[in-house]
Amino acid sequence: MSTNSDNLVKRDRAHVWHPYSSFTATSPTYPVASAKGATLTLTDGRQLIDGMSSWWSVLHGYNHPELNQALLTQSQAMSHVMFGGLTHEPAVSLCEKLVSLSPNGLNKVFLSDSGSVSVEVAMKMALQYWHSQNLPEKHRFIALKNGYHGDTFGAMSVCDPVTGMHHLFSQNLTPQLFAARPQSRFNDTFNPHDLDSIRQLLTKHNNEVAAVILEPIVQGAGGMWMYSPQYLREVRALCDQYNVLLIADEIATGFGRTGKLFACEHANISPDIMCLGKTLTGGYMTLAATLCNDKVSDGICHGEAGVFMHGPTFMGNPLACAVASASIDLLLTSDWQSNIQRIETQLNRELADCRTLNYVKDVRVLGGIGVVELSYAPPMNEIQPALVEQGIWVRPFGKLVYIMPPYITSESELTALTGGIYRVISALTGPA
Ligand SMILES: *Cc1c(COP(=O)(O)O)cnc(C)c1O
Repeated sequence: MSTNSDNLVKRDRAHVWHPYSSFTATSPTYPVASAKGATLTLTDGRQLIDGMSSWWSVLHGYNHPELNQALLTQSQAMSHVMFGGLTHEPAVSLCEKLVSLSPNGLNKVFLSDSGSVSVEVAMKMALQYWHSQNLPEKHRFIALKNGYHGDTFGAMSVCDPVTGMHHLFSQNLTPQLFAARPQSRFNDTFNPHDLDSIRQLLTKHNNEVAAVILEPIVQGAGGMWMYSPQYLREVRALCDQYNVLLIADEIATGFGRTGKLFACEHANISPDIMCLGKTLTGGYMTLAATLCNDKVSDGICHGEAGVFMHGPTFMGNPLACAVASASIDLLLTSDWQSNIQRIETQLNRELADCRTLNYVKDVRVLGGIGVVELSYAPPMNEIQPALVEQGIWVRPFGKLVYIMPPYITSESELTALTGGIYRVISALTGPA
């Protein structure tokens, strides 16, 4: 590495927290100078093909001229203005788009700053709704094992209590109810026994349950698991049967990643409340949205408080809304479905080779998501440099080596990603 890079890494090490990081760990941090298309350029000049879309979010590639322009144009009108008592075109246009694109019935939009906050908002909506129905005892949530919904306290309480990384805080978390994750894979024939666990919880606890919260079709950070659409369809029906709301957390799956605009479409269902984040601005900046149907919004507005009790300072930030609108327009005017299809076909073909390797337990692909599950978790300070050595940016999580590249990734860039992953996995030496 050049002196400049070394120096930046040293300054970083002295003061800067990174996600789930330690100041004493030895796993490397790489300084990025710029990014364009599907390529990250490090300060020492090395180029890495990005397989992560900066955690699901970068759909159209980095440094996109139209998104840059949207940001610039909006900044010349206003970068921010408070949302209490004021409104503006970027927010209204974005919310209209979200309502018209999202599953039927989701008519109201609450904008917030990040995915975790949108989950907090969804949970508060559900609680205020039942309060308004004079059923305040409906205050708990059912979530799925291996689910991930964010890092704030409400969101942490519905993450998998074991794999969810949050057991340290368990004394401060509201104890929620956890159903087994569905075993039937996306393309499997559905096994009705997958429903036993959640049905039992609903039968026993429906009087105290406000909502079921789940990631539709793809469980992300909690295990990268893709399950049968029939499960989602049946859970929707169970929620209706037991008078419980359904919250769909589409923060990772929204905007085409699974092959449908929203993963709920695989099952043809509408949730009562839906969370969007990550992909919302095409990876440009932080913005999230919680949508709900009229039943929920009417309930809240006729309840004791009469208003929904939440209001972030940077709610509806015009810069973020303008970029989000531009990103959605870009997506809709592109042939994103064939593009995701192309990526899926290539991922299926090229990652299949990994199946024959030692320490590979499973390979699974859906839409623009490719996952190689290993039989052990290789140390990050070994596997991360090995992947960078291949010229690719792939960040494994425990036993999972996975990619969800930007939709504009070319065939040869994708081959570089899958080939790099194959070579790194074939060189693994096994658990210490
Ligand atoms: C990333 C993620 C979140 C949390 O979003 P943040 O923006 O990191 O707060 C919540 N739910 C799901 C499904 C996610 O993938």
